[in-house]
Amino acid sequence: MDCDDCLDKLYTFLDKELAPTERTAVAQHLSDCGDCEDNFGFEERFLEVLRDCGTADIAPRELRERVAERLRRTPPPPTL
Ligand SMILES: [Zn+2]
Repeated sequence: MDCDDCLDKLYTFLDKELAPTERTAVAQHLSDCGDCEDNFGFEERFLEVLRDCGTADIAPRELRERVAERLRRTPPPPTL
């Protein structure tokens, strides 16, 4: 599994909809790859926030992915 694969499966992994073999592969990659682990932590927190707001069930996955994508791309504040 490479990083693209891992990102691809991240949401399914978080939704616990992955087949056991794929879960193992993702978990393995996360423990090997710091970048993906960070990403995973971010997505996990994001989903937690959605759950806390009570919107996790009503927000379609597409929307969640779009919001997460935007958050991820938000450039850091400029340093002056
Ligand atoms: Zn990776």
